[in-house]
Amino acid sequence: TEACLKAIDGAGALNAFVHRTPEIAMEQAAAADARIKQGDAPAMCGLPIGIKDLFCTKGVPSQAGSRILEGFLPEYESTVSQKLKDSGAVMLGKLNMDEFAMGSSNETSVYGNAVNPWRRAGDTAELTPGGSSGGSAAAVAADLCLAATGTDTGGSIRQPAAFTGTVGIKPTYGRCSRWGIVAFASSLDQAGPMTKTVRDAAIMLEAMCGHDAKDSTSADLAVPDFEAALTGDIRGKKIGIPREYRMDGMPEEIEKLWQDGIAMMKDAGAEIVDISLPHTKYALPAYYVIAPAEASSNLARYDGVRFGHRAKLDHGDGITEMYEKTRAEGFGHEVQRRVMVGTYVLSAGFYDAYYNRARKVRTLIKKDFEDVFAQGIDSILTPATPSAAFGLGEMKDADPVAMYLNDVFTVTVNLAGLPGVALPTGQSATGLPLGLQLIGRPWEEAELLSSAYALE
Ligand code: GLN
Repeated sequence: TEACLKAIDGAGALNAFVHRTPEIAMEQAAAADARIKQGDAPAMCGLPIGIKDLFCTKGVPSQAGSRILEGFLPEYESTVSQKLKDSGAVMLGKLNMDEFAMGSSNETSVYGNAVNPWRRAGDTAELTPGGSSGGSAAAVAADLCLAATGTDTGGSIRQPAAFTGTVGIKPTYGRCSRWGIVAFASSLDQAGPMTKTVRDAAIMLEAMCGHDAKDSTSADLAVPDFEAALTGDIRGKKIGIPREYRMDGMPEEIEKLWQDGIAMMKDAGAEIVDISLPHTKYALPAYYVIAPAEASSNLARYDGVRFGHRAKLDHGDGITEMYEKTRAEGFGHEVQRRVMVGTYVLSAGFYDAYYNRARKVRTLIKKDFEDVFAQGIDSILTPATPSAAFGLGEMKDADPVAMYLNDVFTVTVNLAGLPGVALPTGQSATGLPLGLQLIGRPWEEAELLSSAYALE
């Protein structure tokens, strides 16, 4: 814990930790030492970790990367961070993220972006750690903590993991409780671990998940021993390669990464099967209707009355002006765009044309996966991202849709509620990490992690 706190102090330029909790950390570390001495050391005992700013942590600033939650000190602890605490983990502080987890580069954060510790060979230009869990990914990659929590609504664990050479798993929807995690799109949001290795991810995921009566969508299922399941034996497993993920204009190095991954799995004894997920091309548009729709509803609670920031008012301003001024100041541009898109697609005249149609598409996407799993496919191998980490500022002012394209391989998994893991398996021509994604059957994280272990 001391070494991590020191590393964090020396890595201010990465802007990964936006709030440090050294006193809490030292206190928890001492308690962990005592538990270890008593021979009562749970799995995460004494392990120093970072918590994404989206998780409410009792008495500790929890701003979801937004100005509107300035000064908000939660009265309660999120179930996932509480479980980690109960498992002995030590909290070093809160990690940077895109505002309300909306973004793929960490550049929508009110704290300014986190920075990827990696650089292109022979180039000093700063790169994005990805988003929205960019602070988590940067912190783990730079060894500022042993692991971190992330959340993933459309790829926010897996894309930053791929951009930083770390491992991230988004479990099946319902595996981790969403209670106490600031809501973005409730039917898609899931928490998960971000770590250096697949084994670490298995250990941490086990500590994070489990049924919670406070989240009605949390599954009442036994939590398997994910670490014990890590045999890495994939002999006879059927690995699906979805042809629709071979997108036009996919960079050659991503294609090669994928082919190398396929060869590795084949060598390890897996059977490689060409599969079709025919509705893949509609996933991104469906996601960018459903996620903003749910966000516009979830973010209605930030009205300047109950949480965080409230705008200074002029004499004579009424409650409408208070809402308007507070929300105009408190939300950044991307969040405002999502609220407007979401409100539009849910409005009486457009609901059927957009929101309802997107929901139907979502059902078809889910069915695509059900069909291939029914054919005996065990897991699906795809690239995690369409490119290596890009430069900070490179995409920020471009057409927002260009940024949304980052999520092309990851959003399908959230729409279908499936588990997906990203892990580093290669390098770009410029020496940056590249990641592959494995997608599993619902509730089969144990098998998924074991297959990832074989690829690691
Ligand atoms: N980049 C996606 C978005 O902006 C994913 C975000 C996420 O998974 N939280 O919506």
